[in-house]
Amino acid sequence: MNDLSLHEPLPAQQWLTSPYYPLMQQLVEQVIARQPLRHVLMLETEAKQHFSCSGCAECCQRPWAVDVSKDYLEKWEAIFDQDPSGYYSKPFYLTPERSHYAEIRKKHGTHECLFLEDDRRCMIQRRYGHEALPTTCQQFPRYENWFGSYMGRFMVSSCPDVNSLIQTYPRMAYRVAIIEDKAWDALQRMQHPLGTENGLLWLGWQLDLITRPGAWTPIERLRFLQQQLLRLDPRRLSQLLPQTFDLFEQTLQEALIRSACPPSAGREAQALQWLIHFTRRYSAIQKFLEQLRYAHRQLPRFSAEEQQRLNQFLGHYLFYRICSLQVFRQPEGTPVFFQSYFILSVHVALWQFLVLYYRQRDGGPLQDVHMTRAANLVGYRFEHDRGFALRHEMYSMAPGHCLEGMATLLSFDLGQSDKTA
Ligand code: SF4
Repeated sequence: MNDLSLHEPLPAQQWLTSPYYPLMQQLVEQVIARQPLRHVLMLETEAKQHFSCSGCAECCQRPWAVDVSKDYLEKWEAIFDQDPSGYYSKPFYLTPERSHYAEIRKKHGTHECLFLEDDRRCMIQRRYGHEALPTTCQQFPRYENWFGSYMGRFMVSSCPDVNSLIQTYPRMAYRVAIIEDKAWDALQRMQHPLGTENGLLWLGWQLDLITRPGAWTPIERLRFLQQQLLRLDPRRLSQLLPQTFDLFEQTLQEALIRSACPPSAGREAQALQWLIHFTRRYSAIQKFLEQLRYAHRQLPRFSAEEQQRLNQFLGHYLFYRICSLQVFRQPEGTPVFFQSYFILSVHVALWQFLVLYYRQRDGGPLQDVHMTRAANLVGYRFEHDRGFALRHEMYSMAPGHCLEGMATLLSFDLGQSDKTA
């Protein structure tokens, strides 16, 4: 679902503002459900409007494919192939087993793109200009995707600049677009597991949960989310009445008056054990976790000011992650509703301990760079490496196991004073 040209000219954007649930109700009732026009809600991160490539070339040397279309290959292959330097011969190879046509060849034995030069600049861009780049490179880290009930225009957080931009520009713009019948039919084949309209109500409720004023930390809010997910019958997700979400909204208002949303007891050791397992490719981080797990090292203490900064960062991070949470496995389109929340909890738990690791390594106190670096590593190594979730069979977990796992992973809350002993 990547064709921006499918949409009619868009009306002016507005900012999503709190309270989000009534806003989604309004959009569903007044616009989205109005037929026969094909109305679709579009969300766009404010951060995207402020992105400008720093030219770090990180994205040009990672273990992912840089895909090219048939048209691109036909236009450029001979030009690169016949370059007098001889460096760029046979620059593409066809990928009949994948959804795209071809990919750029990597330099032998590395993940570096063939066109990346020694000074970290792209030969194509330098010699032929930005317009000559493959579409993937022109758009990165921006992407557009269908999330089952809305179209999202976001940025992948594996680009080193994205996580800090999300903190500076956390808002989300929205507009309602009318799309063509052909595109509409394609979107309808990938409906949100809760249904298109309920998917929007659920989004509004989650954003209220993450942002509504109250004493709860972001981790406590995620625990509350897990408790509400437990109330959903996995076999009847698409049959829920919209009133179900009214009840969720009411429950949230009552719950936030309570002073805390405590963890499930006695799960910390298991949570650490899992994180040790997930980080086995990162020996320094794994060693740090093992020292915590086996009590050779106390959990470092955060000051009240550090906790406040940590919670603010995590609040913005979660707001973005909830908006861009993909409830379909890509590219197959299989629904992975409960699994996506488990995977989000893995990322958040890893993020907390990576923040601790970086802070400890630099000798404290907590700095924004520790949190950004942790979010970048989570984005690059765990979120956008689809192999990570596959290797650990997360997509095939039963809903009950996902929710149990969430409770375990959310047993640490480093933003809460009594958990940083
Ligand atoms: S074509 Fe250029 S911009 Fe794209 S990955 Fe290769 S070096 Fe980077």
